[in-house]
Amino acid sequence: MENILLEIFHEICKYVSPKDLYSLSTVCKRYRKILWLTHSMKCQNIWKTSRQRCLTYPNLPPPNGWNEDWPEQKYIWFTLLSDKCFICKDRLLEKFHDRCWEFRVNCCKDCFDKCAVRRRLRRGQPIQYFWTKDIQKAYEEYKGLGNEEERQDWVVKMQRKVQRFLQEIFDYKLQDTVEITRDLQARLISNNHHQRT
Ligand SMILES: [Zn+2]
Repeated sequence: MENILLEIFHEICKYVSPKDLYSLSTVCKRYRKILWLTHSMKCQNIWKTSRQRCLTYPNLPPPNGWNEDWPEQKYIWFTLLSDKCFICKDRLLEKFHDRCWEFRVNCCKDCFDKCAVRRRLRRGQPIQYFWTKDIQKAYEEYKGLGNEEERQDWVVKMQRKVQRFLQEIFDYKLQDTVEITRDLQARLISNNHHQRT
């Protein structure tokens, strides 16, 4: 009986929007336990089906990320629900403008300036931003390697990883741009409509 109820609950959840799934997960410990599993295929499937059924954005699958595959819950939180700076917790007014796929944070300008550094890696190349914590972590990893050969391999591996990651975030930024444009169009149409009526 218990299992049948659980199956029914799973099925119902697939018709609930991701935003409401979030609310539902805060109702009680039991719902939270069911909806909060990040490595369960069944749970990921609920969120995926809900996202595909109820939303037009985001429609790409969750990103692979830098060091971890993103679960559906994190993806929804990052793209739709989070409205505070991940670092200082102040409210963000421009959710797309303050989104930083490169460093996996939504953050205000002040925090960005504190956490990122500007560097030109080689002469003639454009200035790039780097997240200080990422640099420290990479440096520790590099320092911990035993010999020159291992370091060379590590550099090649990192270069490939950066390439893959940059391609990936390009797709997600493009997805954001399409959504911003759609949102803008909808607002223009709505404004026109109000002016006429
Ligand atoms: Zn901040």
